[in-house]
Amino acid sequence: MNSGKYEFLRVRRRFRQPLVTASGTIESLDRILLRTENNGEIGYGEISPWPTFPTETIDEASEVLRSAQGNLSHLSATVAADKNSFPCLRSALSSCAAWNEIKNFGGKLNCAGLLTTISVGLAQEKWREGFKTLKLKISSQTALAEVKNVLAVSPADCFLRLDANGSLDLAAARTWAEFARTEKQIDFIEQPLPVDHAGYASLGPNKIALDESFLAPGGMQWSGPVVVKPALVGDWQEFRQWRATHAGPVIYSSAFETAIGRQGALWLAAQEPSTIAHGFDTLGRFENDACDHHSAGPVVAGRSDLDWAKIWKELS
Ligand SMILES: [Mg+2]
Repeated sequence: MNSGKYEFLRVRRRFRQPLVTASGTIESLDRILLRTENNGEIGYGEISPWPTFPTETIDEASEVLRSAQGNLSHLSATVAADKNSFPCLRSALSSCAAWNEIKNFGGKLNCAGLLTTISVGLAQEKWREGFKTLKLKISSQTALAEVKNVLAVSPADCFLRLDANGSLDLAAARTWAEFARTEKQIDFIEQPLPVDHAGYASLGPNKIALDESFLAPGGMQWSGPVVVKPALVGDWQEFRQWRATHAGPVIYSSAFETAIGRQGALWLAAQEPSTIAHGFDTLGRFENDACDHHSAGPVVAGRSDLDWAKIWKELS
């Protein structure tokens, strides 16, 4: 039996401007790129945890990769031994296994614009670029009026999503939920309450999306919208089985991957026919590091024309 082998690279990506979320400021991100070779097939994948999301850390993933010493079946066995561990590593291995399809993916997806600060001027810029949906980050400090100001300049056929990253208390979450339910141009409030907060039962699923609380199949049961980060969702086959049974909308979202992770995430998102806007407006935010190879904008696409062996070599 050919046991397969792998190598990996750790890259640090520095944001041009630190990214501010309700749970803290992020200046740089480490990512691990994985290259597998199994029965003559080459695969690529990426381990891209997101700080504050409950997955393995980059150091924990790195430790597992070091211990398996380049032996792919040892690595797969370690990861398979505990179903609840290493979701990012599982995602990366899923990408490697499907790479023959992923590398040929050149399809297109609608993309929501991401505003990391609420600004009427920045929103107008995004509408002008052709985005039809914008995602704004909100926190307990955000006033309804700030969002109303953005709505006031939003074209009638465009939508806003508000992501609280679990930063609200129940009273504030209720206020934002009521606001969303009366404003037809608000798609939903994303992760208003912390993970495991009992208040979700009383908020209900109408215009309430889960991100951190869902994370992967086996997370919270929810009939409302669910945000899925392919980099964090664990085994992609298991995810697709779950997806086939889930009636609510799924919004796919980037975890600020390099081109390897992005190509796989776009491919996974495109496995279901949907015109929904996904969350891939994450390009152009890092210092030049030769890790991005896709184009940004209101419509994003996979790239079937890239020479991944060359890209790997350049990053090595
Ligand atoms: Mg989110």
